[in-house]
Amino acid sequence: MGDREELDEGTHAYIRYNDVRVPADAILGGPGQGFEVAQARLGGGRVHHAMRTVGKCQRAFDMMAERVLSRTTQGELLAKKQLMQQFIADSAIELEQFRLLVLKTAWIIDTQPHGAARTHIAMCKVAMAKIYHDIVHRAIQVHGSLGVTIELPLHDMWSGALSLGLADGPTEVHKVAVARGVLKDYEPVDTLFPSEHIPTRLAAAKAKHAATLEEYGIA
Ligand SMILES: Cc1cc2nc3c(=O)[nH]c(=O)nc-3n(C[C@H](O)[C@H](O)[C@H](O)COP(=O)(O)OP(=O)(O)OC[C@H]3O[C@@H](n4cnc5c(N)ncnc54)[C@H](O)[C@@H]3O)c2cc1C
Repeated sequence: MGDREELDEGTHAYIRYNDVRVPADAILGGPGQGFEVAQARLGGGRVHHAMRTVGKCQRAFDMMAERVLSRTTQGELLAKKQLMQQFIADSAIELEQFRLLVLKTAWIIDTQPHGAARTHIAMCKVAMAKIYHDIVHRAIQVHGSLGVTIELPLHDMWSGALSLGLADGPTEVHKVAVARGVLKDYEPVDTLFPSEHIPTRLAAAKAKHAATLEEYGIA
């Protein structure tokens, strides 16, 4: 989307590898580590995508804000209509959350050992496609039919948002990575009920404080 078909001028190529042999002195890492090397490079690339996306979301948001403050329909500014206010509020909240997620991810990369940011990078990858999509969608809607023309940058942003859900791995794969990374910090229980089961916790608390409860005559 967005490539100029009439000029046969695509930006990405199909590449087919046939019987490729890599000379020993051209191997990055060691034999079998190619995917690892690619992932290390892509991690930084994904954060760059996220940083750029913060800026693009802000641009779409700024357009939306200007429009609701400028356009009057049915006797009042769009900014006075509650559904439009909801667009503004949801977009501002999502953008701020996303910006802080990207900042935290960059902070982890800067301050912690290589690989520590893996889960956060995947979080950024998932969040950027959705938040960019949602904010651009609202910005288009706020601009009415002008929003879907080529006279505004929004149509280009829209196709970019769809690409972000695919480039450097589809959203689904990054969600799997987030779930795997997050679950590493948890342990299963071998009891029938989960650890927050209230009757079980109450019984344990009563057993722990039995002497005190007896002293004060509490059953
Ligand atoms: C703008 C752009 C730039 C790109 N740049 C690069 C680049 O620089 N280098 C590069 O190597 N590649 C690049 N890609 C390719 C991109 O990484 C792949 O398109 C992407 O990983 C999806 O692979 P695929 O197109 O083969 O789709 P498929 O693998 O056929 O997947 C199709 C769909 O199936 C679903 N799916 C796939 N796998 C799973 C899974 N494990 N679990 C659940 N659902 C799944 C997803 O919805 C996915 O979109 C780029 C793509 C775009 C759009």
